[in-house]
Amino acid sequence: MTEAASSLDETGHRLTRRGHELQVGIVPISHRVDGGHALVFGPATDGSPGVSDGCLVRIHSRCLYGDALRSDDCDCGPELDMAMDMIQREGAGVLIYLEQEGRGAGLINKARGLQTSERFDIDTFASYARLELSADSRSYESAARCLRDLGLTSVRLLTNNPEKVEPLERAGLTVTRVPLHTWPRSERARKYLQAKRRHRGHQIPRVLAVATVEHVEWERRARARVASLAIPVMTLPCALLGYFGVAAISAATGLVVLGLCMWPDLLGLHRSARRMRPAMRRPVDAVDPRHPHPERVEAFGDFSAPGEQRRVTPRRSGRRRNRTMAHAGADHADS
Ligand SMILES: [Zn+2]
Repeated sequence: MTEAASSLDETGHRLTRRGHELQVGIVPISHRVDGGHALVFGPATDGSPGVSDGCLVRIHSRCLYGDALRSDDCDCGPELDMAMDMIQREGAGVLIYLEQEGRGAGLINKARGLQTSERFDIDTFASYARLELSADSRSYESAARCLRDLGLTSVRLLTNNPEKVEPLERAGLTVTRVPLHTWPRSERARKYLQAKRRHRGHQIPRVLAVATVEHVEWERRARARVASLAIPVMTLPCALLGYFGVAAISAATGLVVLGLCMWPDLLGLHRSARRMRPAMRRPVDAVDPRHPHPERVEAFGDFSAPGEQRRVTPRRSGRRRNRTMAHAGADHADS
């Protein structure tokens, strides 16, 4: 068992970030200047503690202001956030966190450089030169060795800094660079991106390096405005759809229930209409008021006295028909 695998076994635990858990183990990186720790998020594709070839790797130099204090003066915090978001989305990756504050010069020299920048209105690289400090004294050989100790032969490196690629390739790793582009959040950060691009060849798109703070602020406000308008704008159509949908369903249900309730009555009306149809069709002039039922007279004979209205006890179902015929006879007599 390698030292790295042993460390992962001893230190593996769950870490909650943005509401989701990740499995993480820690591997120490011992070096006098470029030491730190490797945070190995896994598991590997075979389920074992560790990572697999081709995983995402971020080599991040410590920046107390950007990482911990969330300063807007540099891009360290946003880069770390973006790298961790990508690793978390994949569920695996390596964050190598090196104690290289102030590009290897330390926190005190970093503060002196920032003071010099303010005093002479120069960028951080010019102020380091004025203080006779190396522009960048970091090295990444220890990080490359750590990645090899983890059993990796290829990685996807999250960086804009070409100086981080070469040491890993020299260590035998196949490196695919994945850019980390973040918007500057202040005028100082914008100038810092421009300086890194100009002095150290960082692969930052020019549109990001020269982006004005006003543009960044405008974009932030636009995103916030869209997010704030999305809910009320979508609420009205959704409410209308819901209202009319419920109304349509209620109306359809009501019609179905009404139809079921009236079905027997409709059948009864239909049968009554069929029974009334012959009388309705008979011409009024052809009816003899004395013999409203000529078919009965024909069968049984006329028992009524001459000049006497024959009394007929209508059946229940024929009441309407006889009344209609009597009225028709009266009209006929008056005419
Ligand atoms: Zn920083």
